[in-house]
Amino acid sequence: MKKIMLCYPPGDLTVKIKNKYKFQTLDVIPAMLKACNDLGYIAAVLNNQGHNVFLKDYKIQQNSPLDLLDDILNFNPDMIVLHTSFPNVFEDLKIIRMIKSSNPEIVTVLYGDLFFNPSADLLSNLPLGGVDYLIGADEAFVLPLLIACHFNSPQDVFKIPFITVCKNGLMQKTNFNLSHGDINDLPAPARNMMKNEYYYRPDNMKVTATIITSSGCDKKCIHCSEYNYYGPVCHIRPASKVFEEMYDCYNKYGITNFFFPLDTFSHSEKWVEELCDLIIDSPMNNNIEWIANVNIATFTEYMASEMKAAGCSMLVMRFDCGSDDSLFRMNRGFTVDESLNSVEIAKKAKLKIYGLYSMGLPWENQDHLIATKKLILKSCPDYISLALPVAYPDSHIESAFKDANILKSPSLSKDGLNLQPLGTKFLSHQFISNFREKTLLRYYLNPALFLKKLLTITKEPDLFLSYLKYIWFLFKNKSF
Ligand code: SF4
Repeated sequence: MKKIMLCYPPGDLTVKIKNKYKFQTLDVIPAMLKACNDLGYIAAVLNNQGHNVFLKDYKIQQNSPLDLLDDILNFNPDMIVLHTSFPNVFEDLKIIRMIKSSNPEIVTVLYGDLFFNPSADLLSNLPLGGVDYLIGADEAFVLPLLIACHFNSPQDVFKIPFITVCKNGLMQKTNFNLSHGDINDLPAPARNMMKNEYYYRPDNMKVTATIITSSGCDKKCIHCSEYNYYGPVCHIRPASKVFEEMYDCYNKYGITNFFFPLDTFSHSEKWVEELCDLIIDSPMNNNIEWIANVNIATFTEYMASEMKAAGCSMLVMRFDCGSDDSLFRMNRGFTVDESLNSVEIAKKAKLKIYGLYSMGLPWENQDHLIATKKLILKSCPDYISLALPVAYPDSHIESAFKDANILKSPSLSKDGLNLQPLGTKFLSHQFISNFREKTLLRYYLNPALFLKKLLTITKEPDLFLSYLKYIWFLFKNKSF
């Protein structure tokens, strides 16, 4: 039995949100914070194996590195496992060095999708001193193997897939081509350790449980790392298991709001029908509210009516672009007409829409941007995020900009991340940025939307105020 500490390290929470919303934190959006289910899954697996586990999300609890050191002193772990992502990685590596200098005996592990088959450039540019292992996929499957091998048969660590062993300044990657784990082989996340009260919907302030319905994906959308990190096969959880997890949250923790973050949620009508029927036939009926990501390529009218009846109030839809050319190049698997049809379906079922759009991919010219603006104004979602691409190192977006000869200097050097403002082959970054803000202003000043927001003023005065503030911000912005 080992003492294992799992955490989202301390740091600026807004960096996490900015990353999620591609640096647009002022948008009037329900900045849904996903709960730390990944830590919860690891904790559940390790608890089952008899390890002594400590779990904490220092970011959401706004704890400092000193709090982390205090916890380390009290818990005295054999191994500490931290989640990281590009916007935080340099800060997180500083924390690892701090941990190692406080106690060199602690084994340090960092995991995140940036370590999936990392390039030599990435490994040489990151200050990885103090890190023992990097995990680049399937952390809940890999970590138990790593604990067993590291403490009992260190020579076998090289047989574990998806990791990089960092030893004496040398980085050795193991096999990244093996098949990935199936989420159905994992227990439910250890919610008793997750401090659920910190994760809530900012638009209604209700504690919200994040429910993962699948792992992996057989599609390869340009912005998404699901197929790398969890594999190219989509493993869907049975609807009955998803229902059991929801009911457990409701029954044990009194949680009435749920968030389904994966768009594979809408992979099949039969599956959605089964889940919704289970909810409707349970004590949760009329007592819960939920938000689900759906994929426009698979979303149907029947699903919408079932979901509405089972308490769904909002759909997250990634429309991306208003041109079929861009959608095709992004590998999205649907057309603009299908996007508009999905909007009609959602509106007919009285489901709110949180629309995700993007602008400024390498091939886009002014016509592409105008088409996206038209789609935004026509679909007029209840909430919006209009993102500009960010070329994180080793990402598909970075490759697209490199291939188009737009990204000339590296996004990462020994000095840190160097995320450059990106233009396209035909448009400058400044032009795209101005176009984006004008598009947002047109969207927020849409009379239908203004009326909708006005009607929420008594129920959600803070939300209405932030809506007005954001319009003011857009007006004040220098680009007008
Ligand atoms: S379909 Fe969804 S999960 Fe699959 S690659 Fe595309 S965005 Fe990611």
